[in-house]
Amino acid sequence: MTYSSDREDAFIAKYEGRFAEASEEFPLTREEASEIFSAYKGLLRRMGRIAKISDSYQCEVKALVLELREAAANVKALKGFIPICASCKKVRNDDGYWKHLEQFISENSDAMISHGLCPDCATNYSALAKVLPPTGGRPVSDTARLLDETDIEDPVILRFLPTINNRHFSETPLYGDFSLLFEKYVRLSRRMKRIARISDSYQFELQDLKTRFELASQVDYLTGLPNRLDMSKRLEAEQARSIRRGRCFALIMADIDHFKRINDSYGHDIGDQVLVTIARTLSGYLRKEDSCARWGGEEFLILIPETDKDEALEVAERLRELTENLALEAETSIIRTTISLGVSVYANGETLEACIKKADDALYRAKNSGRNRSVFLE
Ligand code: GH3
Ligand code: MG
Ligand code: MG
Repeated sequence: MTYSSDREDAFIAKYEGRFAEASEEFPLTREEASEIFSAYKGLLRRMGRIAKISDSYQCEVKALVLELREAAANVKALKGFIPICASCKKVRNDDGYWKHLEQFISENSDAMISHGLCPDCATNYSALAKVLPPTGGRPVSDTARLLDETDIEDPVILRFLPTINNRHFSETPLYGDFSLLFEKYVRLSRRMKRIARISDSYQFELQDLKTRFELASQVDYLTGLPNRLDMSKRLEAEQARSIRRGRCFALIMADIDHFKRINDSYGHDIGDQVLVTIARTLSGYLRKEDSCARWGGEEFLILIPETDKDEALEVAERLRELTENLALEAETSIIRTTISLGVSVYANGETLEACIKKADDALYRAKNSGRNRSVFLE
C-alpha cells in the first residue's frame, strides 16, 4: 500500500494558505484550521506506518502460507483434528465443539473476528463492543450529517463539531473551505480505521498460522500424540532432570503385534483407526506427568518419570491388558489386537540412545518369545 503524499502536501499547502489570508475576521478558525491540519498530517504519518507494518504482516503471512503448503497433508488433517481457538490458543476437544462453533458463527457472524475463535472468546469480544461509549447528539450542519456513529469517537472530529455546527460561522465565506477540510479529515480517518482493521486481521491470521504451525511441528497428525521430535525434546529434559536429582525414569517401547495383517485384511484406513484407538488407550491410561509419543509407524514410546523397573513393568502390563481387551468394530467384524512392550530404566550417565536401545532390545525379545508380553532385560 502506498499513499500519494505529493497530492496530500498540495492539498495542505493550498488550504493552509487560504486560511492564513482570509481569516483576519475569524482568528479562532485560523487556529482551529491549523490544529486540524496538524492532526491531518499526523494521520498521514500514522497511515504510512500502519501501511508498512501491514505490508510486512502480509509478507509474513504469505511466507507462512507457502511453508504451510509444503506441509499441506499434515496441516489439512490438523485443521480437522485440532480445534484451536485463534484468540486464547486453547485446544478445544470438547464433544460437539465444532457443531457449537458453527451454530455460534451462524448466529453471531458479525461478532466473529476469525473462523477459529472459540465461543468464550467471541462472547467476550461482542460484550466489549457493547460497552463502547455512546455517540454524541444529532449533528445540525450538512457536513456533520455525513458523519456516522464511529466517526464521533474520533477526538479531532469531536473537537471540531461545534465549529461546523456554528450557525454564525456557517454563513461566512470561510465555511466552504473549512467544511471541505473537515470532510477530508473524516474520510481519511475512516480510511485509516479500515487499514488498521485490515492490519489487525493480518496480525490475527499470522498468530493463528503460527500456532497451527507450532502444533504441526510437535504433534503427530494421525493420532494427535507428541511426535518423535517433540518426544526427543522431552527425553532430553527428563535426562537432565534425572541427572540433577539422581532419580531414575523408565521408557516403554510398545509395538502393535502383526499390524501388517490388520492392514492386509481390513485396509489401510481401518489400520489407521486401530492406530488411533490404541494411541488413545495408551495415553488415556497414563498420568499427566508421563508422555506417550508416536515413535514410528505402529510403535509408541512412553516416558515415565521417577519410576523404577517394577513400577514400569506394572504399567507396561496394564497397557498390554487394556489393548488385549479392546474390541474394535470394523464394518461387520470385530478386530482384536495385542501389543508387545520392551521396558528400560535410565541409568545415570548413560546416553539417551543407549537407554532407548535397551527398550528396543527388550521389545525384540518380547516379539521373539511369542508377542503380547512385556519384557525387561537385566
Ligand atoms: P510385528 O508383530 O513383528 O511387529 O509385525 P508387524 O506386522 O506389526 O510389523 P511390521 O514392521 O512388519 O509391519 C508394520 C506395519 O505397519 C507395516 C506398515 O505398513 C504399517 N504402518 C506403519 N505406519 C502406518 C500407518 O500410519 N497407518 C497404517 N494403516 N499402517 C501403518
Ligand atoms: Mg508391529
Ligand atoms: Mg514396528
